[in-house]
Amino acid sequence: MAVNSAPQDDPRLARIKESIHSIPDFPKAGILFRDVTTLLLDHKAFKDTIDIFVERYKHMKIDAVVGIEARGFIFGPPIALGIGAKFVPQRKPKKLPGPVVAEEYTLEYGTDRIEMHEGAVQPGERCLVVDDLIATGGTLAAGIRLVERVGAEVVECACLIELSELKGREKLMGKPLFVLVDFEGE
Ligand code: AMP
Repeated sequence: MAVNSAPQDDPRLARIKESIHSIPDFPKAGILFRDVTTLLLDHKAFKDTIDIFVERYKHMKIDAVVGIEARGFIFGPPIALGIGAKFVPQRKPKKLPGPVVAEEYTLEYGTDRIEMHEGAVQPGERCLVVDDLIATGGTLAAGIRLVERVGAEVVECACLIELSELKGREKLMGKPLFVLVDFEGE
């Protein structure tokens, strides 16, 4: 089990894990898609998920919760509200109306890009970067670089799910990663 993960004896974790459905060959052949929308249908599992993150971060002096489009927008805002921090979205290209800072990252085929409004995160602020799932780590690493490029600090990254056999956390430039569910080898 990965370091910096939730204590595995937390009784809330079994229901959280069971509520995430796994869909073979979506969106294409060979991918086992971990669907968090089924967790959102289970009020207790969804609330427990947010509570565990809030319990961890409420005393860590986080200024900004930075969520990565799209599913970082599901978990990031309730965590931000729960810990008394602002929420900052990192979006796909050309979605934000104001001036942006941008980072490119590598996908299996080609590249993608995420953008953040200039000034949304200020130099020196303490940030938590949130997404639903870490696979190869490319998306989260781009999110970290974007925060650091504006002079802010990434205190930790938080994901609901880790696919640890893909070793994504090794791409996070030494930043701690906190996850609730590891589907290693499943
Ligand atoms: P990566 O950059 O490889 O770490 O991929 C992480 C991003 O892709 C996250 O935003 C996930 O939502 C999505 N993703 C990658 N693999 C899966 C999967 N097996 N099931 C669901 N989402 C995935």
